[in-house]
Amino acid sequence: MRNMPDRPAVLVREVGPRDGLQNSRAIMPTEAKLHWIAAMAGAGLREIDVASFVPPTAMPQMADAAEVVRAVRQRHPSVRAVALAPNLRGAQNAAAAGAQTLVIPVSASEAHSRSNVRRSRVEQVHAFRGIVEWARSLGEAAPRIEAGISTAFGCSLQGMVPEEEVVALAAELAEAGADVVALADTLGYATPAQVRRLVRAVRGVVGAERFGNLHLHDTMGTGLANVLAALEEGVRGFDAALGGLGGCPFAPGSVGNINTEDLVYLLESEGFDTGVDLAALIAAREPLRAGLPGEPLSGRVAAAGIPRTFQPARRAA
Ligand code: ZN
Repeated sequence: MRNMPDRPAVLVREVGPRDGLQNSRAIMPTEAKLHWIAAMAGAGLREIDVASFVPPTAMPQMADAAEVVRAVRQRHPSVRAVALAPNLRGAQNAAAAGAQTLVIPVSASEAHSRSNVRRSRVEQVHAFRGIVEWARSLGEAAPRIEAGISTAFGCSLQGMVPEEEVVALAAELAEAGADVVALADTLGYATPAQVRRLVRAVRGVVGAERFGNLHLHDTMGTGLANVLAALEEGVRGFDAALGGLGGCPFAPGSVGNINTEDLVYLLESEGFDTGVDLAALIAAREPLRAGLPGEPLSGRVAAAGIPRTFQPARRAA
């Protein structure tokens, strides 16, 4: 592709253990989660979103969040442990367990905000400010605070989400002290032109260095097309879930994240070094399947097998 620097690194952040499991029908046992995470860490993934610090009554799949974060920190020093926390209490619990990045969801859609965190958007921005204030009081030990703007590309509850509202929200979160501001297509409705516009506009107000991973779902089959559009806009980080797991239980109609295996295949083939071993990544589907039997997994590369023509970026370099 033109207008791109040679072989830049792209950060692939695995979100299956959080976004994936929160929408699964069954509850994955803790040891099975850790076995699966170990396989993904072994494949070279350097950032893994491992848990959501929500009340277990709301999400029984995440009742072991603290235990999982603690174990990941102990067993995988090379992995950055990421966790989602919807409020200050969740953030404090996540940090106490050792989470190094906290993703705080702030919905662009008012309807999704009320459904997901049971607060209005204004109230959630206020809560976000409180979390930043608390994190600053920790000094050196503070986790990175990432504002995750969910439903940035549309919402099943309210429909259209005006782009100027997303841009204004991003600016507000940056001003509030977010270390990272990230866009999430929670429903998977985004199209490449929309990705280009919103990435450009939001990066313009938060600054390139503060612009985080693009979080995409593949509801409409536009996931990898959106990745390509974002790459051309200079985005160098993407969230994805192994086996295409994922979805938001509080956003009706949401389906899986973009598939990590297919994303790595695309990125490496296009010359972007991800640091991930594709064969080992595909093999990590086994512990996932074992821990979550019956859960349907997607993935074109896993189904087809790695083609003989495949050239990882590093080998091609
Ligand atoms: Zn998601």
